[in-house]
Amino acid sequence: MTAPLLSLAQIRNRLALAARTVLRRHAPGRDGRCPVCRVPCCPAARTAEDLLAAIRRGPTAPRAAGSFEVLND
Ligand SMILES: [Zn+2]
Repeated sequence: MTAPLLSLAQIRNRLALAARTVLRRHAPGRDGRCPVCRVPCCPAARTAEDLLAAIRRGPTAPRAAGSFEVLND
């Protein structure tokens, strides 16, 4: 199922494609709610937006153990 020997750029591109697909499918309808999840603030769309933002920021230096990045601010 997984393709072997993908470069980092290929993995990043596939993640971006998947995130864009999620954003397209979970785009708010006329009532402002996600047509899939039926909620106003779709967690899937938010996660996809966060992933695209992380991809745009590019690779980061390794983090110290116990530290983490807050994406939902
Ligand atoms: Zn949704």
